[in-house]
Amino acid sequence: MKSSTRSPGARNSVLAAALALAGLAAQPAAAEERAKDLFGAEKLPTAAAAQSFGFYSKGCFSGGVAIPMDGPTWQVMRPSRNRRWGHPALIALIERLSRDAVADGWPGLLIGDIAQPRGGPMLTGHASHQIGLDADIWLTPMPDRTMSRARRETMSATLMVDDKTHLVKDALWTPRHTALLKRAASYPQVERILVNPGIKKKLCDTVKGDRSWLRKIRPFWGHDYHFHMRIGCQPGSPNCKAQEATPDDDGCGKPLAWWFTQEPWRPNKNPDAPKARDLMTMANLPKECRAVLDAPGPASAEAATYHGDTVPIAVAPAPVPETPSLPAVTASSTAGLPSALNAFTATPEVGVPVPRPRPPAK
Ligand SMILES: [Zn+2]
Repeated sequence: MKSSTRSPGARNSVLAAALALAGLAAQPAAAEERAKDLFGAEKLPTAAAAQSFGFYSKGCFSGGVAIPMDGPTWQVMRPSRNRRWGHPALIALIERLSRDAVADGWPGLLIGDIAQPRGGPMLTGHASHQIGLDADIWLTPMPDRTMSRARRETMSATLMVDDKTHLVKDALWTPRHTALLKRAASYPQVERILVNPGIKKKLCDTVKGDRSWLRKIRPFWGHDYHFHMRIGCQPGSPNCKAQEATPDDDGCGKPLAWWFTQEPWRPNKNPDAPKARDLMTMANLPKECRAVLDAPGPASAEAATYHGDTVPIAVAPAPVPETPSLPAVTASSTAGLPSALNAFTATPEVGVPVPRPRPPAK
């Protein structure tokens, strides 16, 4: 082809046609940006009704709220990561768990990563935690004093599992650990709890009486100093993709035995292969995630910090958005939202606590 005889415009259209033929139609530049860089740079959530878009490992969310750095029964760890954001239903549940756990004899929760302000893939760690419905909670009891920010960045968590045997370190495991996991699994909203296989085995071997909750406790790599609590898609999130239900049995049989073979622990044959988060562009995420990135935020992190259903948050209202692309909001999705986050909603009474419909128990 003598391209020199063609005008630049014609050359471009020939190039576009060639790319289209090759299945590589030119994308707008923004679509090629790595989603983790864009979402990882967000400092504040969207000032919108809470809504999850996509799947736990491929999505984003609007209307996130932060759990306060300190509560009577919890402390947030690694605050510099700015991952104390979640769907208000999750934040409310973490706070509830912290109170219930203390009543059960656990000294209080150390909160690990929840999500970035607008979710999405993270710059480091975690394949999931993208739609505001996942939270990591340390298996280390909370100290009886308020830790400094510096201490929260550096304090190590207790590793509960032996690297070689993949069994729980018996000197460390207590009935209080079991009670904490049982309590977390007791909430209908919680669909699964990820723990190290050694922890699952410990529970399988020791839990007497009601064992129905073991169904929700799922073995997975890592999760040896924290557990991961996942709640289901919440009302008002029609584009949230639910995860398959866990099997009905306690999961203590064959699937658990597999974890105590060589297979799951063989070294990764291709350790340098890029991870999903390194490849994911905006084009890979649900289309609503572009609107989530572009939507205005609240005035400050404090304005979007969750203080329970009944405590109003006094902040300047967020700018009125012109983004009709964010889907319509239902009253149930705004229940319990701080008023500052309701700029997109048509229901001014949302500061009043409304009973949240519970998903059917699975
Ligand atoms: Zn996690």
